[in-house]
Amino acid sequence: MVTETSVEGLKAMLRGPVIQASDAEYETARRIFNGMIDRHPRAIARPLDAADVIASVKFARDEGLSLAVRGGGHGVAGFGTNDDGLVIDLSLMKGVRVDPERRTARVGGGCTWGDMDHATHAFGLATPGGVVSTTGVGGLSLGGGLGHLTRKCGLSCDNYLSADVVTADGSFVVANEKENSDLFWALRGGGGNFGVVTSFEFRLHEVSTVYAGAILWPLEKAADAMKFYGEFITNAPEDLNAIFAFLVVPPGPPFPEPLHNKNMCGAVVCWAGPSEKGEGAVKPLREFGPPAFEFLAPMRYPMLQTMFDPISPPGMLNYWKADFVETLGDEIVQAHAKFGPGVPNVFSGAHTFTISGAVKKVPSDETAWSYRHANFVHVIFATYTDPSETPKQTEWVRDYWSALHPYSAGGAYVNFIMDEGEDRVAASYGDNYSRLAKIKAKYDPGNLFRLNQNIRPAG
Ligand SMILES: Cc1cc2nc3c(=O)[nH]c(=O)nc-3n(C[C@H](O)[C@H](O)[C@H](O)COP(=O)(O)OP(=O)(O)OC[C@H]3O[C@@H](n4cnc5c(N)ncnc54)[C@H](O)[C@@H]3O)c2cc1C
Repeated sequence: MVTETSVEGLKAMLRGPVIQASDAEYETARRIFNGMIDRHPRAIARPLDAADVIASVKFARDEGLSLAVRGGGHGVAGFGTNDDGLVIDLSLMKGVRVDPERRTARVGGGCTWGDMDHATHAFGLATPGGVVSTTGVGGLSLGGGLGHLTRKCGLSCDNYLSADVVTADGSFVVANEKENSDLFWALRGGGGNFGVVTSFEFRLHEVSTVYAGAILWPLEKAADAMKFYGEFITNAPEDLNAIFAFLVVPPGPPFPEPLHNKNMCGAVVCWAGPSEKGEGAVKPLREFGPPAFEFLAPMRYPMLQTMFDPISPPGMLNYWKADFVETLGDEIVQAHAKFGPGVPNVFSGAHTFTISGAVKKVPSDETAWSYRHANFVHVIFATYTDPSETPKQTEWVRDYWSALHPYSAGGAYVNFIMDEGEDRVAASYGDNYSRLAKIKAKYDPGNLFRLNQNIRPAG
């Protein structure tokens, strides 16, 4: 039983704030990105440094409290909060130090991709992140990390050089290729299972101005466009990335008014190579059938990285389902063409990310992220505000996913799924699961870090 008094004890040990139900900011502090998750933690600790994290982890363990770890709070499964437990919310641990000579960045465990891109762009450098700037570096990269630089630079976690980790017994350890290399292997895709990462060291790449934007096609072209995309992107130059999307066109610039709120399909494109070659690289996609609209221009990389922020606001209800896919074969494309046009609003969609280029250069057993033999990941998401719409919205996602699933590769990208249970997690790590379970048993034998896509400690 955790009393007010014992929480006062935790407060006395931390430099950062500890928020409880009696505090004015509790109502906002308990909330995460997915408004569908409505939980009431006993306390929310906001550490300022590794010492605060160590004290918080020990407190949760000693008091027998359920422990949630929150980076950017975007995990749609809702593991960034809990009922009656302790939340370690890392959002105040935000420093980014760029070393332009070594092309590395040391990044606080609570940074968002917006924090990271802002800091590295000043030096003409970047590392692959996600496509929405408010998403956390922590959750996204620990689970893998797919985005506009995937084909050029690999997954976000492929770019880790080192991580500082507070493990379940409150120890502080460094994980890299030389020290605690088993932990380092597990962190690259294994999610939050192994401890709290207080800071990451990333490799950076020369990426400053990109040639990027969107190409939209009418729905009648959807099947042909998707087939073309699948063949084209897998063999395109690695400096080019493209994400295929079914969407509702946002009602504002740069889109022309006649297209506002229309269901369409399209590709979000990023060329991160030599600027004079951008137009030529994108040309085949533009020339495939006449697009209904295209917006492609040279832009600062952080501009692309924030482009989808307005259609990704926090607090809406989110229901997501996903799978890995080997090929965009006829059955899959036909299922997309049937259900993709049903995207219910501008906040929802069905996105297909490519797994090709640099991601394929890393063997599947070199990091925990195992599905490198797959070529695509799709995610279908309904995002809405009115809870009475839940049956209808979730039905669209489930029906869509069910039509695709028989043709999937068997597992799902853990960052794109809700809480779907242990078997689904095991399937998502494939051959790497048993090694992960052994490393889990070494660093977290009591499964203190279980609010995540959980890997059970090997028995
Ligand atoms: C709007 C939106 C856009 C997205 N776009 C992309 C995308 O382009 N590419 C992509 O790959 N994914 C994307 N995702 C999925 C995203 O990768 C996951 O939601 C991820 O979990 C978010 O990380 P977070 O830190 O924001 O979330 P949180 O909910 O804070 O974290 C998720 C989990 O990660 C762990 N965790 C987080 N930080 C730490 C840390 N420092 N130490 C230890 N454990 C930690 C915890 O177990 C936590 O439960 C998107 C999600 C949303 C909502």
